[in-house]
Amino acid sequence: MTNIEAAPAPDFDTVVIGAGFAGLYSIYKLRSLGFTFRVFERGDDVGGTWYWNRYPGARCDSESVEYSFSFSEEVQQEWTWSERYSGQPEILRYINHVADRFDLRREIQFNTTVTSAKYDEAKNCWEVRTDKGDEVTARFLITATGCLSVPQIPDYRGLSDFKGQKYHTGNWPKEGVDLKGKRVAVMGTGSTGIQAITAIAKEAGHLVVLQRTPNFSLPAQNALLKPEEIREVKATYAAIRKRARMSASGNVYLGDSMGKTSALDASPEEREREFERRWQIGGARLVVAYKDIGTDETANGTAAEFVRKKIRQIVKDPKVAESLCPTTYPIGAKRICLDSGYFETFNRDNVTLVDLKKTPIMEFTPTGFLTTEGEFQLDCVVFATGFDAITGPLLAMGIMGAGGRKLSEKWQAGPRTYLGLITAGFPNLFMITGPGSPGVLSTVTCSIEQHVEWIADCLTYMRDRGYTTIDTDLQTEDAWVNHVNDLADATLHVKANSWYLGANVPGKPRVFMPYIGGVGAYRKECEEIVADSYRGFNFASQGKSKTASAGTS
Ligand code: NAP
Repeated sequence: MTNIEAAPAPDFDTVVIGAGFAGLYSIYKLRSLGFTFRVFERGDDVGGTWYWNRYPGARCDSESVEYSFSFSEEVQQEWTWSERYSGQPEILRYINHVADRFDLRREIQFNTTVTSAKYDEAKNCWEVRTDKGDEVTARFLITATGCLSVPQIPDYRGLSDFKGQKYHTGNWPKEGVDLKGKRVAVMGTGSTGIQAITAIAKEAGHLVVLQRTPNFSLPAQNALLKPEEIREVKATYAAIRKRARMSASGNVYLGDSMGKTSALDASPEEREREFERRWQIGGARLVVAYKDIGTDETANGTAAEFVRKKIRQIVKDPKVAESLCPTTYPIGAKRICLDSGYFETFNRDNVTLVDLKKTPIMEFTPTGFLTTEGEFQLDCVVFATGFDAITGPLLAMGIMGAGGRKLSEKWQAGPRTYLGLITAGFPNLFMITGPGSPGVLSTVTCSIEQHVEWIADCLTYMRDRGYTTIDTDLQTEDAWVNHVNDLADATLHVKANSWYLGANVPGKPRVFMPYIGGVGAYRKECEEIVADSYRGFNFASQGKSKTASAGTS
């Protein structure tokens, strides 16, 4: 470790990148603990994911009352969600409300993209540069950049020649797009595409849906929240949050939905009743109706077949219905989609499904695109083609650790972290909902709060003891990565080509990135590690390094 005693103090204790849920709560926490910091945000306002994803139909697939901050009882009591699953405008209003209420915009520099972040060993600080010419130093760097913030647009031949409008859902114009009466194509049928297709079909003159792989989608059964439901939630908020924090996914508002028995122990009639009951309640609970749907292919097949049967019942054209039925991967292995009338959309006269597996796109033309079956004329193409998930935002920032090592080099074969919070050789870098943590498999606000609180506690712990550096070692990191892989390998999640595995980005290493053991189990592991004097973390101060587990007080 380098002696940093004589080095000049950095400009800030911390630089935070991003001003969505994670960045805003970081500001609140760091400020309340007296740390100095600067926040850089690419957008011109707060909101992160909910700032960028303004596409028609954008809606959350976690229950509103849970997809929100729990740290302030005042906010919980004064904010009233209008729907069971909030639309993007309402979530963005909420985020703005929180930012205003706690005056969180003060330290944020908007319209600023971080272009490089380099750890300076001699000074023991991060040098952060931005596209606006900023060069600031901070002891710690916290990435609050979200897991789904680098949009992917496929590289189809002729796409640049297309003269119509082109949009990616994750970068939707703030002023909106008038699609009324237009000939529109939506490419992609993941969570985003399913929402956008359902909404755009009602507006467009004609909508072409470009589907490569059909997805399992369940009805959200979205509805306005009733005054008595809101009263009940507000009266029991503390208890709901407490249960959520120790649950599997952070989603407990309507009761524990995880089945306790095997699907194979139930009779076909019992299973049918249970699946139907859960279909009617709405949300993702159908895929956890039995304890083995996520781990046993036969059990899984019973739920998958129930959904396929529903699709065939809803969609009137049997050929279209068959194209919409997912058959190549287990249900729940990809992120389950929630919809508000998606399959019904294909009964509309103004909607055409193009099954790209049967009739691939040959090329885009100045006026549309050409498949093996013929030409389609378009005014607009909407790409709902997903994101370079989880690692994409981290690798886009030119992060360089000790010895000038690039994060992109270290993670060439896939991300490696300890707890999804830090990565060896990149001292004083904390990642909120980083790879190897449960973030994307949970109600993400629950995971974000846990990470921000963990980091804030850790910074306080270090300050109290005069530590100026935190890192981990490769052995600890390898053990965590193996643990994350072992958990994933015991499930059917690894059997689908999903963004969890990076499979949607050509050339990205196929590694299951999130921790799948559940937010409660993960929280417990984090707490035990802290209680065990930050087991696996190495701290240093004034040139002296110290392995935490050797005792730190
Ligand atoms: P996604 O799940 O990765 O889906 C991308 C879609 O684009 C897939 O259907 C994919 O087909 C298709 N695609 C990609 N490249 C293509 C190509 N070259 N040609 C044709 N099709 C192509 O992305 P997403 O729908 O944006 O969702 C990402 C995640 O964001 C979700 O899983 C969810 O976690 C989050 N999200 C949440 C909500 C919500 O809260 N309701 C809403 C939207 C998004 P293949 O399947 O064949 O790859």
